[in-house]
Amino acid sequence: MTTPLGHTTGQARPKVVLVTGASSGIGAAVAERLAAEGHHVLAGARRTDRLRTLADRAASSPGSVHPVRLDVTDRADVAAFVAAARERHGRVDAFVANAGVMPLSRLDCLLTDEWDRMIDVNVRGLLHGIAAALPLFTEQRAGHFVTVASVGAHEVVPTAAVYCATKYAAWAITEGLRLESDPAIRVTTVSPGVVASELADTITDPGAAEAMRGYRAHTIDPGAIAGAVSYALAQPPDVDVNEIVVRPARQR
Ligand code: NDP
Repeated sequence: MTTPLGHTTGQARPKVVLVTGASSGIGAAVAERLAAEGHHVLAGARRTDRLRTLADRAASSPGSVHPVRLDVTDRADVAAFVAAARERHGRVDAFVANAGVMPLSRLDCLLTDEWDRMIDVNVRGLLHGIAAALPLFTEQRAGHFVTVASVGAHEVVPTAAVYCATKYAAWAITEGLRLESDPAIRVTTVSPGVVASELADTITDPGAAEAMRGYRAHTIDPGAIAGAVSYALAQPPDVDVNEIVVRPARQR
């Protein structure tokens, strides 16, 4: 198999992969790509109608997409998500923590409920995934965590203080997980630049929405991020792709 970065890897057995936030954008593209490659995906999100459409589209692919209603802010929900995969397939090979929200605003707007929502989804949601999958990966002595962070995990821009804080946190938690983990467990952070998706739709502050229109003028397709996830998952067990940053060529 030739990877998006041009490397050749062996034809590995199909993987069982959980993807959070799979109802749109990057998560949907990851689920679709992995199913096309023959993997079995459990696709989690709150909008199950979208997940069912995704599963229908993937029905003719060599792999599969199974929709699961999931709210990553609910620890029990995330535990049930992992349990469902284990029950269905007997194991879990990878957990892609992708669900995220980005209701940007300046701090002095004091949109504190939106700060809380970003922390709940982008940070607590990630931690719930680790809490649910790490014991299983440890028991299996195999597993792969993939966190979808952001270029916002590396730089702060006005209106994005809290969003970037959640992405710095996601980066730090994932890096800590890598350092602490058994070498049989692989850990990857994928940090996208501006990608066409519904992410900016969560912005309610008019000033931030206006600023984002310029910032998000040049986007790349979510498939570019799915390619990066696929590349990381396709490596042999002794190769751990720690981080991939994927930006539009025009994004500086
Ligand atoms: P979308 O808004 O298109 O997708 C976000 C996904 O997260 C949806 O599937 C949504 O599903 C899900 N989600 C939100 N809240 C929850 C929740 N409580 N429980 C479960 N799922 C939830 O945006 P993207 O595809 O762009 O975002 C995916 C990830 O990529 C995010 O982490 C984002 O921060 C990151 N990212 C995106 C960039 C971009 O430019 N697009 C750039 C850098 C990073 P539902 O509402 O159905 O639950």
